Amino acid sequence: MNNINYLAFAIPAFFIFLYMEYAIALHLKKGHLFKYESSVSNVSIGIAERLLNLFIAASFYDLFYFVYKNYALFNIPNVWWVWAILILATDFVWYWYHKLGHQVNFLWAAHIVHHQSEEFNLSVSARITTFQALIRNIFWCALPFAGFHPAMVITILTVHGAYSFFTHTQLIGKLGWLENILITPSLHGIHHASDDKYLDKNYGDVFVFWDKLFGTFQKEEEAPKYGLTHPIKSYSFLWQHFHYYFELAEACKRENGFKNKLNIIFGNPATLNQDIRPILEKRFLQHKSQDRYRFKFKKYLNFQLIVCIALLTFTTAFFGSLKLDDKIFIPLFLLITLINCGALLEQRRWIYYLECLRLILVFAYVFFKFDLLGLIFLPTISLIILERTFALSHVYRVYVLQYETIMSKHSPTEINIAHDSVINNKNKLYTDEKIESK
Ligand SMILES: [Zn+2]
Ligand SMILES: [Zn+2]
Repeated sequence: MNNINYLAFAIPAFFIFLYMEYAIALHLKKGHLFKYESSVSNVSIGIAERLLNLFIAASFYDLFYFVYKNYALFNIPNVWWVWAILILATDFVWYWYHKLGHQVNFLWAAHIVHHQSEEFNLSVSARITTFQALIRNIFWCALPFAGFHPAMVITILTVHGAYSFFTHTQLIGKLGWLENILITPSLHGIHHASDDKYLDKNYGDVFVFWDKLFGTFQKEEEAPKYGLTHPIKSYSFLWQHFHYYFELAEACKRENGFKNKLNIIFGNPATLNQDIRPILEKRFLQHKSQDRYRFKFKKYLNFQLIVCIALLTFTTAFFGSLKLDDKIFIPLFLLITLINCGALLEQRRWIYYLECLRLILVFAYVFFKFDLLGLIFLPTISLIILERTFALSHVYRVYVLQYETIMSKHSPTEINIAHDSVINNKNKLYTDEKIESK
C-alpha cells in the first residue's frame, strides 16, 4: 500500500466544511437552512458518485489521451497564458454541458438529481450522480480534441470542480462587484430556484460571461424557493436516482412510432407529461411514510453513514492496492448501505431483507478472506431459523423503525391520529408479514 491517492483527504475536508457551515448557521440562528433527511440524501448520493468514479476515472483519462493523440485540432503549447484560455474554455464547455443537461430529457434524467434538494447548502454540491459524471466526461473530451494537453485538462478540472463546492451556500450572500465576473453563491442559488423568473438561468460554473452572452443571466431579486418545480418528496436513494428514467420509459411506452419515442428522449423536460410521475409514485412508493412523521432512530443511520464515509476515504486512498474481491465487496456493501439509509427515512417494509442481504455479504467477504466461503450457509440458515423462531423481521421493525410526529405543523389531535396511524401501520406490516409467511 505504497501509492496513496491524496485526493482521499478531500473527503474529510468536505465534511469539515459542511460542519463549519452548519455551526456558523446555528450561530446566526439560521438552522432552518438545513434538514436532516435532505443532508443525508445529499451526502449519500455524493458517496456513491465518488466511489463509482474511482472505477471509471482512469478510463476517462485514457480517453482524453486517445482523443488528444489521434484527433487534436491544434498543437497548443504548455505556456502560462494557455492556462488562462483553458479555464475559460473549460467553463465554456461546462456552460453548454449544463444548459443541454436542462434542455434534453435524457441528459436531464441525470442532472435532475442535483436539483431535487429543497434546501440549499454546501451538502447539495455532493448531489452528482455517476450518470452525470459519465456525461460530463464525454463533454470534457472537447478540450483534448481542441488540442489542450490531457495533463493540463485534468489539473484544471480539479480546480474547476472544487470551485462549485463553495457556490452552494446561503451564508455568503451577494459579493458586490464580483457578481459581475464570477458565479457567486447568490447567482448559483438562483440556478437552483424553481420560481418562474429564475427558471433556466445561470448555467455557468465559474464565470458569468457565458450567461450574459447567451441571455440566461439573472441576478437575485426576490428570495428564491429552492428545488424542482414539481418536488419529488422522497429521500429514497434509488427513487432519486431513477425516477426520471422511469418517467421517460413510461412516456415512450405511451407513444406510437419510433420517431415519437425519440422525440420524448431528446425532447425538452418542460413538455414531458406531468401526470406520469404521480402514477409511478403510486406504483413504486406505495409504502412511503407520510410527511407528518419522521425517522427517530438517527444514531443507527448516522453510524451507517460514518462507516460509509470512512470506507470511501480508505478506498480512495488505497484504490490502486486493492484486490479484486475488495473492489467487488466494498461497492456492494456501500451501495446496499446507502439504499438502506434512504429506506430507513422512508419506512420501507423491505428494509429488513436488505439488512439480511448485507449481513450475508459481510460474512461471505470474511469467509472468503479465510478461504471458508463454503460455510456461508451457516449465517444464512441462522437468519432463517431466527426469523421462524423469534419473528426477527417484526422485532426489527418495532425497535429500529421508530418514528416521531412532526410537532410544529399539526394540532395535538392530528398528532395523535398520526401516531395511531404509525402504530396501525406497524401492526398491519406484522399482520401482512404473517399472512405472507403462511
Ligand atoms: Zn443545473
Ligand atoms: Zn448546483
